[in-house]
Amino acid sequence: MVPDSALTPGSGEEPPGLYLHIPFCKSRCAYCSFNSYACQTPPIAYLAALSSQIRHWAGQQWCRERTFATLFIGGGTPTIYGGSELAALVRLCLESFAFTSEAEITVEANPNTVTVQTLANLRQAGVNRLSLGVQAFSDRLLAGLGRSHTLAEAAAAIKAARQAGFANLNLDLMYGLPGQRLADWQESLATALEYEPEHLACYELTIEEATPFARLVEKGEIILPDEEEALAMAELSHALLAQAGLQRYEISNYAVSGQQCRHNLNYWRNGAYLGLGAGAVSCLSGLRFSQVAKPEIFADLAQKGELPLIEAECLPLAARFRESVVMGLRMIEGVSFARLHRQFALTPPDYYGKILEDLRQQGLVEISKDRLRLSKAGLPVANQVLARLV
Ligand code: SF4
Repeated sequence: MVPDSALTPGSGEEPPGLYLHIPFCKSRCAYCSFNSYACQTPPIAYLAALSSQIRHWAGQQWCRERTFATLFIGGGTPTIYGGSELAALVRLCLESFAFTSEAEITVEANPNTVTVQTLANLRQAGVNRLSLGVQAFSDRLLAGLGRSHTLAEAAAAIKAARQAGFANLNLDLMYGLPGQRLADWQESLATALEYEPEHLACYELTIEEATPFARLVEKGEIILPDEEEALAMAELSHALLAQAGLQRYEISNYAVSGQQCRHNLNYWRNGAYLGLGAGAVSCLSGLRFSQVAKPEIFADLAQKGELPLIEAECLPLAARFRESVVMGLRMIEGVSFARLHRQFALTPPDYYGKILEDLRQQGLVEISKDRLRLSKAGLPVANQVLARLV
């Protein structure tokens, strides 16, 4: 049992993050299961609706009482809108909510949607981190994924980001792709490193239901690397990136010292966040709610002055505790007992007892005086370990 006396829903919480969702892309990638819709010209009505939501939530007591530490505009492809439209959205957030003086402000972009001018507009508005969805440095693999950009466009976008003054750049890469061999992955990593990014996210492709890839895998029309080869790709990433000074700090994320993504760290620490836009989720001190997923319904409701919400739940403290442990174990540093104790007056050994001791004896987790983390043997099978702690 989690003791709830003397705890308030916001006990021990750190400054929250703000997320804005832009649910449009130029075309749909074959593996995509995100809330995104293909269009060439994104609707201005959506930005107007999002802006009205920003103003609405900035006036709410929970937000007025807090200073936000991060802003993340994700998608979809946020840069499907022009630089000046996105810059106006960033400025509206910065004027409407209180942010810490060192706030991390990230925009996600796809390579074929940015120019030096777009990115310079974002820098001027206060954006200090750019996350580029490169995925692979190979036209053959990009075409296989159904990505709408080319290798040359990725190179140009990275160059443009540096020219526009971005000193904190993330590149998203994917491995375990159809037709990808270990040597291809090595080449993608080596090319990425030539650009000296401050942050790299290396995700293994997962086949999600109801995507074109799921149908192709089912019909045997695409073949993925086997488990052994995918594991070799993961191990190659850890080794090459460590040599280049990018430390692995989460299952799939690497950064140079001090440039870990603070917005995502807040999710993994199960911190509070406000998510606005179609399909965005918020978690305000244990109250979780989602906004409607379809952008046109979102825009319609917001324009009528109604809240575009679909579902809300109030999470019991025990569920929040388990979530904090499960999400926190994604980080290489694991979970801090002191942090959990501040929020829940409880630590993992107290709560899980024998389950945790069994995992320790199997060599899958390490428990020290003040920390629980996945071991070297536990990290590659993280999903199975975490399933036992949910
Ligand atoms: S760019 Fe990202 S969000 Fe858009 S379709 Fe591709 S995977 Fe989905």
